[in-house]
Amino acid sequence: MKVTSEYVTSQIVFIGYTAFVSTNTHDASGPVFVADNCALDFINTEYGEGARHCECLVDDDSVVDWLKQAGLLSQAPGKAPDGLLALALEMREAGKAMVKAAKTGQRADADVVNRVLTLGNPTRELQWDGETASYQMVRRRDTTHAFGLLEPVADALVNLLTTAQLDLVRQCEGDDCTLLFHDLTKSHRRRWCSMAACGNRMKVAAFRSRQKAG
Ligand SMILES: [Zn+2]
Repeated sequence: MKVTSEYVTSQIVFIGYTAFVSTNTHDASGPVFVADNCALDFINTEYGEGARHCECLVDDDSVVDWLKQAGLLSQAPGKAPDGLLALALEMREAGKAMVKAAKTGQRADADVVNRVLTLGNPTRELQWDGETASYQMVRRRDTTHAFGLLEPVADALVNLLTTAQLDLVRQCEGDDCTLLFHDLTKSHRRRWCSMAACGNRMKVAAFRSRQKAG
C-alpha cells in the first residue's frame, strides 16, 4: 500500500493529540491544548464560531485554572488577584493581533506585553543550598498579583514572536474552527487542530460532497 505523506501527517497529528481527543471535542467547552505552543494555547482560550464558540476565560479564577492546566503555575495563589481576567483578555487580544500582524511582516501594539514583562519580572536571589553546599540562583515570581501570574504567558509570546517560523503558525482548516497551532510536523503539512475533532469531520464532509457530485 502506498502511504501518502498527508496520511502520515494525519496519523502523527492524531497520535500526538490523543489526550485532547479523549477529554475535549469541539462540542465540549473548556480549554484545549492543541497548539504545540504555550502562547498559542493561550490565544486559543477563545475559539470557534457560532454555536461552537467557547470562551474559557470568564473570571479571575478561570485564568488561574488555565495557568495551572498549562503548567505555568505550580502553586496557586490563595485568591485570584483582582484584575487578572481584564489583564489576561487585554494580553490575549494584543497577542492575537501581534501574531497576525507579524505573519505578514507588520507590527501591532506590544504595550501590554511589555508592561507584563516589566511588572511581572521575577526577582533573583542568591541562596545557599545546604544539600549541594553551594550557592544557587533562585528566581521568584510574585504570583499574588496579575502581572506576576501572567509573566510566563508574556514570555511565551516573546519566544513565539522572536524565534518561531511564523509561516508555520496557522489556523485549523475546519469550518467554524478558529484554533491556531504551530506546525512542528516534519512535513509541515498539518492542517487540523486535531484529527479527531476537525480532520475527520472535514474529510467526511469532503467525501459526502464528492459522492453527491458523482
Ligand atoms: Zn479545528
